[in-house]
Amino acid sequence: MPNLETEPAPSGTIAVPPEEALPVDQPTSGHQGSEPSAPEGTDGRITAAEFESWDATGSIEIDRYCVHCGYNLRMQPVRTEPRTQLLSVRCPECSRFMSAHESITTLSLWARRLAPLAFSLWVCAVLFAYFMMSLGSGGLVAASLDEFTNYGMSRIVTNQGVTYMTSSGGPRTVASDPPAYFLVVGLSVAAEAALGFAIAMLATVVFPHWRRWGYYIWVCLPACVGVGLLSWMWCYDIAPHLSRWGLTYILNYEAVFLLFGLLGCFWSRPLARLMARIFLTARLRGVFGYLWAADGLEAPSTRPSMK
Ligand SMILES: [Zn+2]
Repeated sequence: MPNLETEPAPSGTIAVPPEEALPVDQPTSGHQGSEPSAPEGTDGRITAAEFESWDATGSIEIDRYCVHCGYNLRMQPVRTEPRTQLLSVRCPECSRFMSAHESITTLSLWARRLAPLAFSLWVCAVLFAYFMMSLGSGGLVAASLDEFTNYGMSRIVTNQGVTYMTSSGGPRTVASDPPAYFLVVGLSVAAEAALGFAIAMLATVVFPHWRRWGYYIWVCLPACVGVGLLSWMWCYDIAPHLSRWGLTYILNYEAVFLLFGLLGCFWSRPLARLMARIFLTARLRGVFGYLWAADGLEAPSTRPSMK
């Protein structure tokens, strides 16, 4: 059990242990809101003796589960909480009490059990997106490098109407007159910039609780790995005789990625807020209220404006 004495609960709210606490961006009107209020400082737990002093009204006759620990409350007595007159049940397993009206079924119990799995899948999906974006950034450099240097290697031959690319056997040279040079460079540099910004946005939106240096590391890591791997492959394997040219090329591309990634550390969350304002209805925007809270801003109203 983690430390429960981190923060005193404000008066009028129910003390909830940290692992049960809702994220800050969600309203605390979930299932806890329907519970009878717990005495101050008891963390929702009461003794069996105290519970037995309340008026008995009956018992739970069906399979019902504790909101907190999942214990089956079947045959547990139902009593009237003296202050609020709500029918309450006490869980003998975790000693917490809850409203007898709450319907905790096997379905919600399984939802609770599967939550860690869903969370793990979510983290894997985010890391996969991070990996694919990093791979895309390196792939862009490699593909455009190839585009400008493979002309010395291949020539097109036509044999009985079928066209083949074949190697001339010569070393790679930087193509002096590559087709659409500026189009290829322009597009791949723009894509590199977009990837850098997007990879920063992935972190600032999904992990709003990080400190700024966490985002710097997140952005610098793929750039550094990209420079290292691509330079090593280029200078030691693919085209050592073009190492100076290739290194400059790789560094320039990764610098664009890094520059826009670092800009994204500052500007991607404001952009996400702008997109939320433009594309989401007022009610849906409430779900993304944390985008404002993360920067200490007041979240926009979730009531539709009547203008
Ligand atoms: Zn329980």
